[in-house]
Amino acid sequence: MHQIIDHLNNSHHILLTSHVRPDGDALGAMISMGLALTSSGKHVTIYNEDEVPKTFRFLPSADTILQHLDSFDAFDTAVVLDCGGLERVGGKASEIGRIPVIINIDHHITNTGFGKYKIVDPSACATSEIVYRLIKQAGITLNRAMAFSIYTGIMTDTGSFRYSNTNREAFAICEEMVGLGVDPNFVASHVSVAYSLSRIKLLNMVLESIEVSDNGKLSIMALTQEMLNKTGSKPEDLGRLINYARQIEDVKVAALIFESRNRCTDLPESKHQFHISLRSDGSVDVAGIAASYGGGGHKSAAGFNVVSSLSEIKAKILNMADSF
Ligand code: 5GP
Ligand code: MN
Repeated sequence: MHQIIDHLNNSHHILLTSHVRPDGDALGAMISMGLALTSSGKHVTIYNEDEVPKTFRFLPSADTILQHLDSFDAFDTAVVLDCGGLERVGGKASEIGRIPVIINIDHHITNTGFGKYKIVDPSACATSEIVYRLIKQAGITLNRAMAFSIYTGIMTDTGSFRYSNTNREAFAICEEMVGLGVDPNFVASHVSVAYSLSRIKLLNMVLESIEVSDNGKLSIMALTQEMLNKTGSKPEDLGRLINYARQIEDVKVAALIFESRNRCTDLPESKHQFHISLRSDGSVDVAGIAASYGGGGHKSAAGFNVVSSLSEIKAKILNMADSF
């Protein structure tokens, strides 16, 4: 931690970034660290491949996160937050990888250990918890804007203090953030805003797609580009969709098969790029399953990418249920 703080103090232009389709923790960690470094006089740029979901635009400084940068050459340091592997930052991973010093700050058990300096702590409830510790250790004064980001990161990554990663620090830090002016009701009401009509129609299609394995222990649901086009929805917040499949009685593992926007044109007609989100009730280690497909995550929330046809990947995932 000292080495990282010393290094950041001596850096001139710092890039902060996180994973594609950023969630509350990715955003909370990027924004709070950005505000802290800026308050200590550092030149900081925050970059994410995907736009900030509408539900998180209430966060102070959310509009400072850039989706496009002409070049990554000017940075001497990159801080990669909440990413189990450098490739999680998306299409610019190799350019970001060429920044002279990479700092890896994360809490995924499957973290690959990339970067010159790292803090990888799977016991942390959120990457935002680790950023909080860094800010404290560096002697930077926390303000209300930073508090909003840290609180939101911890609240969302612990599923509002309900998931198995909810620890004492989650409560202790959030209590301190409330003391700094965070209004829990304000955050909660922004994070769980009302669904638009197009979202409800999408939800209907996704619920319709649910299939359960013969032994009842695994459920799968599919979200295709056709569904998005038909309803005019954006693929924001897959986490909330998969919860419906996870909450089915007796289900131990739920999988959401998400057909990505096809980025490679050389794929045959029947094959698509899919992102698979996995959630478990805690009795099955889905990080292990995801890792065996080249992905990663936490014991009860993980993901991976595959190129396949929809029917092929559905069959493959349904087959996993035999081992639960
Ligand atoms: P989600 O299913 O919401 O995309 O991700 C669930 C968890 O698994 C998150 O903690 C996320 O960071 C991790 N995860 C999802 N996809 C991948 C992947 O392709 N590689 C790795 N290493 N982690 C992933
Ligand atoms: Mn996280």
